[in-house]
Amino acid sequence: MQSELEQLPQKAREKHAENKKFFAKLKKRPPKDLDYIMQELHHAEFERTDCLTCANCCKTTGPLFTNADIERIAKHFKIKPSEFIDRYLRVDEENDYVLQSVPCAFLGADNYCSIYEVRPKACREFPHTDRKKFQQISNLTLKNVAICPAAFHIVEEMKRRIFR
Ligand code: SF4
Ligand code: SF4
Repeated sequence: MQSELEQLPQKAREKHAENKKFFAKLKKRPPKDLDYIMQELHHAEFERTDCLTCANCCKTTGPLFTNADIERIAKHFKIKPSEFIDRYLRVDEENDYVLQSVPCAFLGADNYCSIYEVRPKACREFPHTDRKKFQQISNLTLKNVAICPAAFHIVEEMKRRIFR
């Protein structure tokens, strides 16, 4: 997994133009059964993927934290939301709460998340490859394929399956 992760940014750069073209087409003409296709590709990929040998999302990027996330996690730590924000979060260019630093402070050396049960919604949903109307998050996916090997494989499989 380590060598695949090291090669992933370069592989994503090589595929970027092709992926961009594919997603532009997908946005214009999404197949009627796209939601179904994405469920299938997502589940097949995550059957093969062991996130505990990877954790690249937790190491290199991080989620945004909604107010509901902040309240839930602060409650878990029995501290005030404002204290949680002061300790762990900052506001980014888009005015969202994000981690002060990566790797995420809640990631263990064994790649387990210490707040798994109460983790942010964005962590639960990453890399969003099973969400409905997937064509609407193409810009995000173009970035995620450089971080997440599973997302990279899913997009490669999409290109094999759709518009053929
Ligand atoms: S979601 Fe993707 S980047 Fe995150 S641990 Fe799983 S395979 Fe790795
Ligand atoms: S909260 Fe947990 S799942 Fe989310 S980035 Fe941190 S370690 Fe990963």
